[in-house]
Amino acid sequence: MNVAIVGAGLTGCLLACYLGRRGLDVTVYERRPDPRGGVVERGRSINLAISERGLDALRRIGLEERVMADALPMRGRMIHPVSGPLDFQRYSRDGDLAINSISRGALNNTLLDAAESAPGVKVLFGHRLTGLDPATGTMTFETEQGDVLAEAGVVLGADGSGSAVRGQLLAHGRVEESLDFLDHGYKELTIPAVDGEFALDPGALHIWPRGTSMMIALPNPDRSFTCTMFWPTGGTASFASLSSPAAVERHFRAHYPDVVPLAPDLADDYRHNPVGLLGTVRCAPWHADGRVGLIGDAAHAIVPFYGQGANCGFEDVVELDRCLEESGGRWERALPLFEERRRENTDAIAEMALANFVEMRDKVASPMYRLVKNVEHRLEAALPGRYVSRYALVSFSTVPYAQVRRRVRGQRRLLGTAVAAVVTGVLAAGVSALRSSGRRRGLTRR
Ligand code: FAD
Repeated sequence: MNVAIVGAGLTGCLLACYLGRRGLDVTVYERRPDPRGGVVERGRSINLAISERGLDALRRIGLEERVMADALPMRGRMIHPVSGPLDFQRYSRDGDLAINSISRGALNNTLLDAAESAPGVKVLFGHRLTGLDPATGTMTFETEQGDVLAEAGVVLGADGSGSAVRGQLLAHGRVEESLDFLDHGYKELTIPAVDGEFALDPGALHIWPRGTSMMIALPNPDRSFTCTMFWPTGGTASFASLSSPAAVERHFRAHYPDVVPLAPDLADDYRHNPVGLLGTVRCAPWHADGRVGLIGDAAHAIVPFYGQGANCGFEDVVELDRCLEESGGRWERALPLFEERRRENTDAIAEMALANFVEMRDKVASPMYRLVKNVEHRLEAALPGRYVSRYALVSFSTVPYAQVRRRVRGQRRLLGTAVAAVVTGVLAAGVSALRSSGRRRGLTRR
């Protein structure tokens, strides 16, 4: 049976590698030209944090080393306040666990190479899907030579959050969808290398938390940093509200003062780089007619604040491959089974990713947050394997996301008690110190 994968992005390429290894005849259709030609769309470089879930999927087919060759480990968050010293917060107690910064383009290119060299896989660029009959698997593609028809026994939509495959299923009444856009968008800036060196610590994910908005920066192998601003799309403190280079500079001097001397092209980047939208895609079902399926962002795009979109898409691939194995290669069984197993997990990470936006932009700078993280690291050390923080479960394990959510709810009480004990202990120590200093000065009532 021939399989069509629509979209040669991260999920589509990895899926092609997995299905090729199963001996299937796979054609990947991609609307863009071959990205290995080199040109990256301005302001859309996007570097990703790849963590254990993504690495696990790559490891299973021998791709981890190749991908990690281009990656930079980040062992914690570096918080940049408006004034005062930087604050490095390790992701794990010993600082031994890291998430990995990698350019989406470089990762995509590595996966394209791997897909093209997998047995039975071919990739056709410049093919934009514009029509699909889910009952027959007949697809229409817009190409430079005009419209082209193709047929496949199975059609898998790995064509991202704005999926045309999902759009076709919607038009044929096979799925329902909801799109919840955030009232924040994103824009990229660059901090170049200074004299060939990183301008900031490359071992950290940098965060400028500013209450209702924030900026982050991830290191690149060429020693630059890609910064991503997550700002409101409307209102007085939005992207649109800074309409001149002087206004941009004034705003950055007031709110991100340490960035100004490091980003010489700040005003130009700000003016020319596009604002991207962010949102959560939910749809059901993820399959139709036993032969069409959705995977990755096409089925469940999420906001990027847990750094999990691509990791989750890679996990999808492992699960779909497993379902196919367990269904004896019968897609009409594998596709519903895949949805049954994955949905509660993708719902869970969608919710956790939204919650993490508030944590990153607002809470990470507070002393209480630092105290809680400190206590969490101590609990992890005192109860190894029994207490594991949510961040560690999401980023450094392959525990299913829904289980993570349940487990963290269970752990919350223990954390609350431990934090209260520390606070009470600190208060008690403070009171006793006050009392003894009072006694020394003869002030304490007896
Ligand atoms: P996509 O990467 O969107 O790929 C879809 C492919 O389909 C594209 O190649 C597209 O050209 C093609 N296509 C689209 N329409 C058609 C059509 N009609 N016909 C043919 N082809 C078509 N994830 C992480 O894991 N970690 C992170 O740190 C992280 N950070 C992020 C930061 C930002 C600012 C954003 C926006 C996202 C981030 N993500 C992160 C999410 C991650 O980028 C996505 O989850 C991931 O790219 C999804 O992969 P995909 O292959 O499913 O979809």
